[in-house]
Amino acid sequence: MLGANADARDVRFETCPYDGSRIDAEHYSGGSVLLRCEHCGAAWEWHNAWIRRVAEPDRARLRAQRAQHDQHEQCPDALPVE
Ligand SMILES: [Zn+2]
Repeated sequence: MLGANADARDVRFETCPYDGSRIDAEHYSGGSVLLRCEHCGAAWEWHNAWIRRVAEPDRARLRAQRAQHDQHEQCPDALPVE
């Protein structure tokens, strides 16, 4: 028997751990919440005390975003040209 005082809602899960974007919360019937980052596509299912990831982040998009910050001048020259 765990104490009912430990409310998982105290734990804020509002920003994406991958890119820091705001996460959208979609409430399902039965108390589940689907958390989704529009930015990288990662998604989590949150039900009371547990949370699990249901969708991986789009790593290519994360990398592209990071590259934009890091190396502004470097163009993707390696793309195949017809
Ligand atoms: Zn994200």
